[in-house]
Amino acid sequence: MLSSYILQILCISLVQCRTIYLELNSPTLDEVNFLLQYGYLSKDLAGVGYTYTSQSISEAVKKMQAFAGLPQTGVLDEPTKQLFKRKRCGLKDIDEDSHARNRRYIIQEGWNKREVTYRLLNGSSTMSKDRIERLLENGLEVWAPHGNLHFTKLDEGKADIQVYFASGNHGDGFPFDGPGRVVAHAFPPPLGDIHFDDDETWGVESDISEDGEEDITDFFAVAVHEIGHSLGMSHSNVKSSVMYPYYQLPVDKLHVDDILGMQELYLNVKGSEESEGTERTVGSSQAPRFTKTDSEEFDDAPDLCMTNYDTLQVIHGKIYVFEEEWVTVLRDRNVREPGYPKRFHELFIGLPSSIKVIRTIYEKHDRNVVVFSENKYWEFSPSFRLMRRGSLTDYSIPDNVTELTTVFISNYNNRTYLIEEERYWRYDELTGTMDEDYPKDMSTWRDVPYPVDAAIVWKEDTFFFQGPRFWRFDNNLVRAHEYYPLPTAQIWFDCESNFEMTYYTINDGP
Ligand SMILES: [Zn+2]
Ligand SMILES: [Zn+2]
Repeated sequence: MLSSYILQILCISLVQCRTIYLELNSPTLDEVNFLLQYGYLSKDLAGVGYTYTSQSISEAVKKMQAFAGLPQTGVLDEPTKQLFKRKRCGLKDIDEDSHARNRRYIIQEGWNKREVTYRLLNGSSTMSKDRIERLLENGLEVWAPHGNLHFTKLDEGKADIQVYFASGNHGDGFPFDGPGRVVAHAFPPPLGDIHFDDDETWGVESDISEDGEEDITDFFAVAVHEIGHSLGMSHSNVKSSVMYPYYQLPVDKLHVDDILGMQELYLNVKGSEESEGTERTVGSSQAPRFTKTDSEEFDDAPDLCMTNYDTLQVIHGKIYVFEEEWVTVLRDRNVREPGYPKRFHELFIGLPSSIKVIRTIYEKHDRNVVVFSENKYWEFSPSFRLMRRGSLTDYSIPDNVTELTTVFISNYNNRTYLIEEERYWRYDELTGTMDEDYPKDMSTWRDVPYPVDAAIVWKEDTFFFQGPRFWRFDNNLVRAHEYYPLPTAQIWFDCESNFEMTYYTINDGP
């Protein structure tokens, strides 16, 4: 629709109007405002009466498409129009004109300290303050290890990061817009505050699946993103990163792109035990990697040397490593199979395209391969043809279990172990029954961390993997061998010892 009002706004002359209309399928005033608000269109380009040439609009649309990962057609096609309507963060995507205005969106700095305080001022209309507080704490913990940060909750006084819910105009010059579209925004250090739009129906992911009627916005997913801003991160054009500006689920861990950003912001900050006497180099003039818009580097397969994989498993004698939608196959430790990585959907034909992550996978005694995602599984023939699908209850797993972290067959007793986060079941495939007295606590496997990302049997040995490290397990002693854990990337993925690896090994937990 091209109303006369928009005509008036957009057009200098009738000729140009027609050009805009034909070339661009006429951006609405809202759409032009969107391009301005998120940094794709500069106000400096405006002609008389707040008008733009079709060329400058088209350029802006291309930038927006590039950032979102859409084909850069430069015209307002349907996928692009959908972006205007999507829930998203209120911060800019591109900072090109930051020298002129919106100074507080220049995102180049982290906190110049390791100890950061936060305070939640209220709950939302749909979630209690207690519940929000717990999720907020979890969200902060997602980021903390990557900046070596420590967060302390305050119940009164001014915290570094003040968090609250508000609707409409709430006094900071960035009014919220009612239900949908902008759901939250946050200010980088040294401001740090996070605001959530209380006109959204906030909830958690499980509320969403139970009740498709209501348009629930997952608080945790948005909180993790906004916390990123309040730590100094800017938007990323990497679709699977937490800092991608459009709302998407699930958010359960950081992408390598997010981690790189944090390292750039926090590695040399004073106040940590290991960097006494080092000059602070945070806030250098280099543009952070994660703001670049012209590179497809991170949209391609993730780098296993960052050890950011989802799971791995031995299938038909080879090691399959899964990360996001990708699979890499290793013939042996440190020997990659040519032709990989490829998207796992190319292998597992029949797996629903909605599955973006393989949490765990294993090969049955009959060489069939079972892929797990949430509380469902898909079983494939040895040539990866879909045979059947079902839910965890088929394995006699209680129906309140929403996801398994690891499934593997032990070479010790040939039983299938089905591991949730902190407990596990033992299943006898030959009889199709669950062994008695399960679940048991993961602590029975001494010195093995949990939740585990993967457990495999490789050349008669059992290995457990978590984060960047792995443990070799002694089945007789029922404990991990001494001298473990060791770094996974160098020993399995043929990675050189590098800076990131050292960082992980030192800082990523006990
Ligand atoms: Zn954002
Ligand atoms: Zn605000």
